[in-house]
Amino acid sequence: MSIKLFIPGPVDVGADILEKLATTQIAHRSKTATELQQNISKKLQKLMFTEDLIILSTSSGSGIMEMAIRSCTKKRAAVFSIGAFGDRWYKMATTNNIPADVFKSELGQPTTPEMVEEALKTGLYDVVTVTHNETTTGVMNPVYEIGQVVAKYPEVIYLVDAVSSLGGAKIEVDKSNVDICLASTQKCLGLPPGLSVASVSQRAIERAKTVEHRGFYFDLINVVNRALKDAQYPTTPSTPHMWALDYQLDKILNKEGLDNRFERHAKMSKTVQEWAMKHFDLLANPDFRSNTVTTILNTKGNSVGDLNKELMTRGYMLSNGYGNLKEKAFRIAHMADRKPEDLDALLKEIENIWEL
Ligand SMILES: *Cc1c(COP(=O)(O)O)cnc(C)c1O
Repeated sequence: MSIKLFIPGPVDVGADILEKLATTQIAHRSKTATELQQNISKKLQKLMFTEDLIILSTSSGSGIMEMAIRSCTKKRAAVFSIGAFGDRWYKMATTNNIPADVFKSELGQPTTPEMVEEALKTGLYDVVTVTHNETTTGVMNPVYEIGQVVAKYPEVIYLVDAVSSLGGAKIEVDKSNVDICLASTQKCLGLPPGLSVASVSQRAIERAKTVEHRGFYFDLINVVNRALKDAQYPTTPSTPHMWALDYQLDKILNKEGLDNRFERHAKMSKTVQEWAMKHFDLLANPDFRSNTVTTILNTKGNSVGDLNKELMTRGYMLSNGYGNLKEKAFRIAHMADRKPEDLDALLKEIENIWEL
């Protein structure tokens, strides 16, 4: 039996999209490869509301996170963390010998523009990292408002992890002054894992040129130079993913439409939130709840592990709480091409198993 995944990535992928992965192989130095990237770039620019350069990485999203913080930090990075994925930026900084400080919010709370202003006022930092959608807590950060603060500091590069939100929630990269916005394919974009995407501003490029040790595979300038030359990559990209992404972006932009897609995600998040408030409680601050994943506090103390085992026999799977939140919370992802009817069916099954 196939299991419907309500976990925050990887997500279920439609058969038509999987078929695109089986497209006949092309040479990665061919004109076809160039055109494929150019098409993807135009479509991703629409999805991200940006005119910036688009790059892909044949790695999961964490690869571009590491590329971004390592290539753009010359002085010191201010890492704003509201959960495990915010902490990941900090780990990347320290393990790459990049000077950084981490600013944490309380569990379930966002990063505020005031916190960012406070940090940047010191003049110590030239990079800010923010998690748009913290997949562990179900909090969505005010990326636009934070961007208005960052814009007051011309030497600061603004890096945004939109791994679990791009394609499910509106992110206006240019308006929000985001320099690098990145995401993975296996979350709201509804593709298999193995590829990640990003927008890169001219400011980020200029900065990276001045940073000495950028590594090799994840050297932003190496990737950008080749992209600017002929829309190709220094190393061999996953062209199967690229075919699938190009196809899926058409579906997102033209078949469903961006507004409808964001609306569908918002509607599903509202359904889960209302259900959770009726039976349990929510971790996230009510003003900053995610449209793509909901973290529900396990107030009844039932076993989430047992629930999931039973759900799997019925064709569903959700996520336990992440890290310290294991068994204290559980998460329901409502992202990518998930249909509201499927979500309703999952909630019914949970009610049935837990006798809610
Ligand atoms: C999943 C996730 C990541 C890690 O993405 P990978 O593609 O597994 O590297 C980073 N940040 C957030 C917010 C995520 O949800």
